[in-house]
Amino acid sequence: MKSEARRVAIIGGGITGLSTAFHLHQQKNKGQLPLEFSLLESEPRLGGKIKTLRHGAFLIEAGPDSFHIKGKSLLDLIQAAGLGHTLIRSNTGQAFVFAKDALYPIPAGMVMGVPTKLMPFLKSGLFSPAGKLRAALELLYKHNVAVDDESVDSFFRRHFGSELVDRLIEPLFSAIYAESTERLSAHATMPHMVALQKSHQSLILGMRRSQAGPEQNKRAPRRDKTPGPFTSLDRGLESLVAAIEDLLPPSSVMRNTTVTRIQEIAGRYRLTLRGNDTLDVDAVVLTAPGESAASLLGMPASFSPLQESPPASVANVVLAFRQDAIKIHNPGTGFIVPRNAGCAITACTWSHLKWPHTTPKGYALLRCYVGRPGDDAIVNADDHLIVQTVLHDLKRVMAINDAPEFHVVTRWRNAMPRYAVGHLVHMAKLTESVATRFPGVVLAGASYGGIGLSECVRQGEDAAHATLAHIFARPSLLKKSRQC
Ligand SMILES: Cc1cc2nc3c(=O)[nH]c(=O)nc-3n(C[C@H](O)[C@H](O)[C@H](O)COP(=O)(O)OP(=O)(O)OC[C@H]3O[C@@H](n4cnc5c(N)ncnc54)[C@H](O)[C@@H]3O)c2cc1C
Repeated sequence: MKSEARRVAIIGGGITGLSTAFHLHQQKNKGQLPLEFSLLESEPRLGGKIKTLRHGAFLIEAGPDSFHIKGKSLLDLIQAAGLGHTLIRSNTGQAFVFAKDALYPIPAGMVMGVPTKLMPFLKSGLFSPAGKLRAALELLYKHNVAVDDESVDSFFRRHFGSELVDRLIEPLFSAIYAESTERLSAHATMPHMVALQKSHQSLILGMRRSQAGPEQNKRAPRRDKTPGPFTSLDRGLESLVAAIEDLLPPSSVMRNTTVTRIQEIAGRYRLTLRGNDTLDVDAVVLTAPGESAASLLGMPASFSPLQESPPASVANVVLAFRQDAIKIHNPGTGFIVPRNAGCAITACTWSHLKWPHTTPKGYALLRCYVGRPGDDAIVNADDHLIVQTVLHDLKRVMAINDAPEFHVVTRWRNAMPRYAVGHLVHMAKLTESVATRFPGVVLAGASYGGIGLSECVRQGEDAAHATLAHIFARPSLLKKSRQC
């Protein structure tokens, strides 16, 4: 007798939901499982924050533009989706910090602000002699290991002093998390550094030892054309969204479908959809952001620690110039801007240099961000004001003698989850209370277990396996969580 199919709803068609759908589909086929699933997305398009635009021959990433080459979960998904041949590595090149009204190269060997190579760090003009001495003393100090979570700011200030934090670490972390380092959780955003502190006391020592590879790697000569550590897709990241969708059964994808409520009814779940249709399922993977998930489940108190740090807003501002309209004095991949530099822009990528496939010959493509932690009013300004503000800042850094050929401003309101100090503890409690009250409902996505694309893909995969183990009561379908 054929058993009745189990139904799963995946709420949210961003990369986390797509990863869940892909892995459910794969496991269903592999194990001949009686399974139906629906991917419910409120917008007319899938992809969530992944948004690739085309403007003539320009390829513009309005959301994420790349991921680290170590992002194994995402690399695996890209291969499985048949896009391995479109993977593209960034050009290597110098990255800069705009400080003291000039561009300073980030010294070679800095890894998330940790100076793993002392000579380039000591020679850098970005730091004062006193700042360098204070940072180098990190090798000698015994650092008290904080048992509980702490801020990224206090963690690094203890190790390296103020100057390294203010001039390099703060802008690096703010560019990734759009959150002030004073509020950002060290445990949630850089567990490897916390582990290195525990094992080595000194981050410099720990980093150097963990980076030391096999003997032949150490001796291998560095080639000039070694690609950079970032990876993307030559047709844009949204090509992954389309490739995954093509692999899913067409009936499983429901766009323009907003879920407004999740109710538990006799061990199953009834989803109310906007327009009052309903969908009954056995399990739910909830990839919507924290605020939306809290209201869908009617559990505002359990989600309140997440809501105390509402997601940050930023705007992505892309400007295209004729090549001869701008002069970059120190070419490289781009620059970051500390908050005390008096600029609205927080970071700028020279996309035509870092990602040459994005820009036709004879043009330059600049990709900037505005919107700082606690100061995101600029995100709500009109396009003209945003572009003029960005141009004003850029002219402090490079020569610009003509107007841009075109611009694209993309506002991302309440889009960047902010992992405040205590995030991991809050998440453990939240996961437990959701599992207790709504067994079979799994939270996954940027609000919860990591904001990077690869971390979202890994969460989606883990959620798929947890869901299968639940609905088929087969723990063997659970997959051990992997590092991404
Ligand atoms: C501007 C920007 C730049 C970034 N750059 C990078 C980068 O370079 N590299 C990197 O690794 N990461 C980057 N990130 C982070 C990364 O892009 C995101 O963390 C990731 O894409 C989030 O994926 P997600 O599926 O968890 O969430 P989302 O992409 O937000 O998807 C959630 C989906 O759920 C839908 N939804 C919400 N509520 C409901 C509901 N009730 N019913 C139905 N659907 C619903 C939403 O419409 C949305 O499509 C960047 C993020 C931003 C905003």
